[in-house]
Amino acid sequence: MTDTITAIRNAAWVVSWDEAAAQHVYRQNVDVAFSSKGILHIGPGFEGRVDQEIQGISCLVMPGFVNVHCHSGDEPLAKGLFEDIGTAALWGNALYEYSALLDADDDAKAACQTVMLGDLMRSGVTTLLDIASPHPKWLSLAAESGARVYLAPGFREAAWRVVDSHRLDFDWNEAAGRERYVEALAFIDRVRTHPSNRLEGVVAPSQIETCSERLLQEAAAEARKRSIPVTIHAAQTMAEHEELLRRTGETAPAFLERLGILGPDLILGHSIFLDHHSWTRQRTRDDLGRLAKSGTSIAHCPVTFARSGMTLESLGAYRRAGVNVGIGTDSYPFNMLEEMREAMICSRVSGRSVFDLDTATLFTAATVGGATALGRTDIGRLAPGSKADFVLVDLNHPAMQPVHDPLRNLIHCSAERAVRDVYVDGQVVVRDRRVVNLDYDGAVRELQDAQRRASRQAEKNDPRGRPLEVLAPRALPLKN
Ligand SMILES: [Zn+2]
Repeated sequence: MTDTITAIRNAAWVVSWDEAAAQHVYRQNVDVAFSSKGILHIGPGFEGRVDQEIQGISCLVMPGFVNVHCHSGDEPLAKGLFEDIGTAALWGNALYEYSALLDADDDAKAACQTVMLGDLMRSGVTTLLDIASPHPKWLSLAAESGARVYLAPGFREAAWRVVDSHRLDFDWNEAAGRERYVEALAFIDRVRTHPSNRLEGVVAPSQIETCSERLLQEAAAEARKRSIPVTIHAAQTMAEHEELLRRTGETAPAFLERLGILGPDLILGHSIFLDHHSWTRQRTRDDLGRLAKSGTSIAHCPVTFARSGMTLESLGAYRRAGVNVGIGTDSYPFNMLEEMREAMICSRVSGRSVFDLDTATLFTAATVGGATALGRTDIGRLAPGSKADFVLVDLNHPAMQPVHDPLRNLIHCSAERAVRDVYVDGQVVVRDRRVVNLDYDGAVRELQDAQRRASRQAEKNDPRGRPLEVLAPRALPLKN
């Protein structure tokens, strides 16, 4: 069977990769030819065999985004519940006291995953790294979506327990943690043989403070044996920072350096509270250098943290220090372009300057930065030989007009509203803003029931037995 060749004719704007300059560049009025094997040509007047054509006259063609950190598990179920709350004694973070209150059953998890995949693809994501606990449909939905998916089954030896809404304790169960770890490795090995060739596994000790040093080292060694990435939440909250200091006297990067885990195949989830962060009040300034020198990547997900009043200081400073940064979405709204806009704003606010971060650096983080974190040079960029993972942006959308610089319009103004079509491996996965391969609308309907089911369990799961109305009152009083 011959491979279908498609040409996008006269694309008004294309973000293409200039290998010599090692940067994205704009090109205007060129053809982009591709097949399922990859990008064949970017330039004026493609004269090779063409089986089908797309008119590109009103389009920006750009590489798909690489999302290096998201959670499909139960995050969408918390939508509308916990945005206004946190635990004051744990630096305002809601993670420890509230994240375990909602139980997602397997149907709920499948709906959450479908909605996440759909929302990410509709915001231009073509590759994503999903950290979750496996459920029966996890692998099959990832495969059906058509996206390029890195599945990271999480495991840990300790669970968080918040006592009286102020103290974080850890319930250790090393045997159970090790069992999850063994299952995770078996799952990863199954993912890696999937015939789609779009799925990959990632070794994911869930959090730096919930795994023993031994397990962290073993897990990293197993990942390195398989040449696949490792991801760990690290330096994500002040409570974690303080716990690590209490146990070892070390910051997260110093701790991981001592264990021999830092390296180009490691992606640290969030990495906010390093020794230079104004909240940590450390006397050293070594952590950014540790990450840069070792080639360790970080997954920057500003929205969830900014919602809790926290931000990395600052994305521009990390890049200037030479740290590889990829962008992730962590939790809902699973909108990569909104996440990027917030990354821009947070960087300029925490860096106290418009010059802290520019659009090109941010766009590069969301594409090439993510690809580098995953150890790849064939995604996150458009050039002959790269994967045909790309996005068609509608320049006629009012939010994209007038067009002087399409990426600035997209990131600062239109976000996903102008994302029209998305392709992975040359196959369409979003057509005219609609998800092609998944029952997105059905999953959205299922979320309402799933949230009701989960909400009923909240009181039982809360150590203080508070009903949901007390745990998370609505934004306005309900009057009938
Ligand atoms: Zn996370």
